[in-house]
Amino acid sequence: MSRCPACNARLGEAALCRRCGCDLSLSRKARLQARLALSHALKALDHHQTEEAERWLQQALMWNSSDWTIKVAGFIKTQLSLS
Ligand SMILES: [Zn+2]
Repeated sequence: MSRCPACNARLGEAALCRRCGCDLSLSRKARLQARLALSHALKALDHHQTEEAERWLQQALMWNSSDWTIKVAGFIKTQLSLS
């Protein structure tokens, strides 16, 4: 995350935005959970566990709906439809 979603200030690694004080810790945890879920989905895809992969994709999108998450989830869904 390079910009504060509330005030658009540039962000470092701190949990609070220096400009507006917005607490970013929850959104960072959600983004991490989404990445972990996508990782699980990829592993399930690799093991041809289609239903498991779909379940992890839904989890990922529940945790985070950023463009990045949607693009990676879309890629995995495409791979699932081809398998
Ligand atoms: Zn801010």
